[in-house]
Amino acid sequence: MHELLSRLTRFKEELSPAQQALYQNLARHGQQPKTLIISCADSRVVPEQIIQAGPGELFVCRNTGNIVPPFSQANGGVTSTVEYAVMALGVTDIIVCGHSDCGAMKAVANPVGLEKIPNVAAWLHHSQVAAQVVEKCHPNIGPKERVRAICLENVVAQLAHLRTHPSVAAGIARGDISLHGWFFDIGPGQILALDGASGRFEPVTEGRSLPIAHKAEPRLAADFCAT
Ligand SMILES: [Zn+2]
Repeated sequence: MHELLSRLTRFKEELSPAQQALYQNLARHGQQPKTLIISCADSRVVPEQIIQAGPGELFVCRNTGNIVPPFSQANGGVTSTVEYAVMALGVTDIIVCGHSDCGAMKAVANPVGLEKIPNVAAWLHHSQVAAQVVEKCHPNIGPKERVRAICLENVVAQLAHLRTHPSVAAGIARGDISLHGWFFDIGPGQILALDGASGRFEPVTEGRSLPIAHKAEPRLAADFCAT
């Protein structure tokens, strides 16, 4: 039997009565996830497992390098997913999740051989900003530290891109959406979360509040309604 076939068969056979009921309920009433996560497509990063989320709880967008292109009128999978998550599903939290040992960020750090994969090369232009920031701020670090720094700066850069999307910008202004920047350290299974106040990535640990990149709070750029 093909390995995939046996896995699919086992999935259906081993569903507990509670899981069967959950799927039936989700099929009947639809989904109402409150969190969108944009993570790398790397097979070692499994958002549902990291967050311990079941079916129906997490809206997931995965791509090479956990990239969010800046908003444009050009149609794109990430843009459509973000727009749908915010406007149709009403998510309240959006997470951009990078990770250690990211092949995409290694390619950003050292773009050798990218000419053979031109679509990947073009896609990774959206992460150039991270490489530039690291180059200017940490010119003397070694190659391993450089890749890790680019992985972290890439999360910051993609959060900035996310805010150029009108649906997200409006949700933030209304105080309806929080933004999270995460970094998954694969070896120890540790999440580092960006603290927007300090600008640093902090380990997520029991007993401490979750560091948040941008907390949901209403803000108005204009002063016409201040009385
Ligand atoms: Zn990756």
